[in-house]
Amino acid sequence: MIGRITQTYYEPSNHTLLDSHMWKWTPSPRAFGSRFLDFLYPAFCELCKAPLARGGSLCEDCSDQLPRIKAPFCGNCGEVFDGRLDEEFRCQNCLGLSHDFDFARASLKGLETSFHLVHAVKYRRQFFLARDLARFMQQTLEEDERFQDYRDAVLVPVPLHWRRQQWRQGNQAYELSRELSKISGLAHCDSLQRVRSTQTQTKLNRKQRLSNLRGAFRVKRRYLKELRGKRIILIDDVFTTGATAHECTRILRHEAFTSKVAILTLVRG
Ligand SMILES: [Zn+2]
Ligand SMILES: [Zn+2]
Repeated sequence: MIGRITQTYYEPSNHTLLDSHMWKWTPSPRAFGSRFLDFLYPAFCELCKAPLARGGSLCEDCSDQLPRIKAPFCGNCGEVFDGRLDEEFRCQNCLGLSHDFDFARASLKGLETSFHLVHAVKYRRQFFLARDLARFMQQTLEEDERFQDYRDAVLVPVPLHWRRQQWRQGNQAYELSRELSKISGLAHCDSLQRVRSTQTQTKLNRKQRLSNLRGAFRVKRRYLKELRGKRIILIDDVFTTGATAHECTRILRHEAFTSKVAILTLVRG
């Protein structure tokens, strides 16, 4: 397990939208060390702890069993509907709500295994997991026809406040966005900034979350021109009430004059 722990490096973003199309991963000396240790130590599946002969972080069985979201789901927020539906469906939460974003989609249902993986990346700094998790997000990009309109989109991760990022030594949304960019070929641009630290949102309802988030984000000045008119796919780990997604979309559209914004998260909470 030592090899796994040492893989939890973090490299802050330093590439711009312009160079992100030809962006290459440049391993840090620490990453070289972890690769070496990976060679010496057997790797284990994060969920069932079975040894993995060919690397990666999840075994084939656990990967297959992850609760993927398939239709029908809410056309607005991605909420899963258990049953059959032939028409486009809007969930109870979305009736009478207006979101700034085009639509939100998630790849996995909010069940125990999904949250285990999110927590491992978020709180245990197991950023290497993001490589495998981004593959599920790529499947969603390919399966959901609505993303056809986003073939030239830019992936933008939901940012953490720098203090929280320092504490966690990374940002899970950033890691997912970066890995998804490598798989999909879409540009990745770490263009949003969290300028105000907000209290934890777990116990707040949507209305309270929205007012809690007001003024919390801004677009980094150096990306204002580059994002103008671009379609955006906002990347985060979990979609819960949509308050964060709504506020980030509002800021992207009002400050950088981006075109449509769609949301893609790993999990629908
Ligand atoms: Zn497994
Ligand atoms: Zn909904």
